Amino acid sequence: MLKDYFKTIFQAIQSLFTGMKLTGYYFTHLKEIQTEEYPDNRATLKMAERFRGEVIMPHNEDNEHRCTGCQACEIACPNGTIKIITKQEVLADGKKKKRIDSFIYHHDLCTLCNLCIVACPSDAIKMGQTFEHSVYDKKLLKKILNKPGSKLMEGVE
Ligand code: SF4
Ligand code: SF4
Repeated sequence: MLKDYFKTIFQAIQSLFTGMKLTGYYFTHLKEIQTEEYPDNRATLKMAERFRGEVIMPHNEDNEHRCTGCQACEIACPNGTIKIITKQEVLADGKKKKRIDSFIYHHDLCTLCNLCIVACPSDAIKMGQTFEHSVYDKKLLKKILNKPGSKLMEGVE
């Protein structure tokens, strides 16, 4: 009994020194530390290319996007995260064309499954790499992805 008691104490001390040895090693080899210093490195932190943070709609420098309002993404989404509201626009030649009015994205519902992006025939949406999305008000996670005043890029049908 007494033997077991001292054996346990010895094992505990041995285990403590094993841990301390590793701590001591990294204390003297700081350059080898592999952990990310988040959030101190927030400004320089680069996520992996495959990281999925949110659905975004890229716009070019002329405030143009590639979304035709076809609704393929809305249909592909398994949980109603996307709502496309369209409008009729009269073109220069007098013809009427369907255009997006609002691309509504409910980030709080999104499972980041990527199905909408695969379904889009125009490459209009992609996964953004932002990752800090905490808000106190859930309403702030409802986003309009087409920027105010933006229009469909020339040549995209
Ligand atoms: S990533 Fe998935 S859940 Fe999110 S909007 Fe696209 S299809 Fe819907
Ligand atoms: S994002 Fe793509 S799939 Fe969705 S409405 Fe626009 S063009 Fe269609």
